[in-house]
Amino acid sequence: MSPRSWTSAARSDTGRVRDSNEDSLLDRPDAGLFAVADGMGGHAAGEVASRIAVEALEEALAGGDGGEDDDDGGGPPSGDRVAQAIRAANRRILEDADRNPERAGMGTTLTALALGEAGRWRIGHVGDSRAYVLREGALRQLTTDHSWVGRRVDAGELTKEEARRHPMSSVLERALGTAREVEVDVEEGEARPGDLYLLCSDGLTDTLPDAEIRSILREAEGLDAAADRLVHAANEAGGPDNVTVVLARVAS
Ligand code: CA
Repeated sequence: MSPRSWTSAARSDTGRVRDSNEDSLLDRPDAGLFAVADGMGGHAAGEVASRIAVEALEEALAGGDGGEDDDDGGGPPSGDRVAQAIRAANRRILEDADRNPERAGMGTTLTALALGEAGRWRIGHVGDSRAYVLREGALRQLTTDHSWVGRRVDAGELTKEEARRHPMSSVLERALGTAREVEVDVEEGEARPGDLYLLCSDGLTDTLPDAEIRSILREAEGLDAAADRLVHAANEAGGPDNVTVVLARVAS
């Protein structure tokens, strides 16, 4: 791929029930870096946690100098760098909570996508925000939900549809801000021309089944229209939660 070989669009919306939006996003097509974070914690602390997470990520991975292990002909940052960036975000959230006791216990998910010009992607992920790819009309989830229901889906004990409607659907088993050490999932793969990547918070995926997300991504004309339609559909379905989507399409 040549430089700037992708385009992106991003939206974040409070929804129809919540008073505030605790999601944060990063949309840096110039750096090939995208992220969604879904914060939690009282007294506006969730907003702070998710914002710290995306800022720490951006600082670590989009800061111009790519670091010595980045000089590999247009690849995304190494898996180690992605994991280190997310662990640094975790530490920064804990440090902020130490300094500001009213924010004790705040936490956040973080799902980050790095695209490389040589046609690879890397994802770093903690929590139940998700990354998907739409390729040749098929929608595939690239991340595993670190949640109580997600583990049961993996074990074949619940279907994704049952998990989506389950009363425990929002119970996380891994998040940033909850412990000094955090295990980070890092995935990688080939980014092909025409691929459409979606990062989103659970305000989208608890509200819309994958089939509807796929339909919207396939039918919308352009990334901005697709992002608008996803948010609109989640709100039409009740808008019970903050909803955030980041879309990145590789040029075909
Ligand atoms: Ca949420």
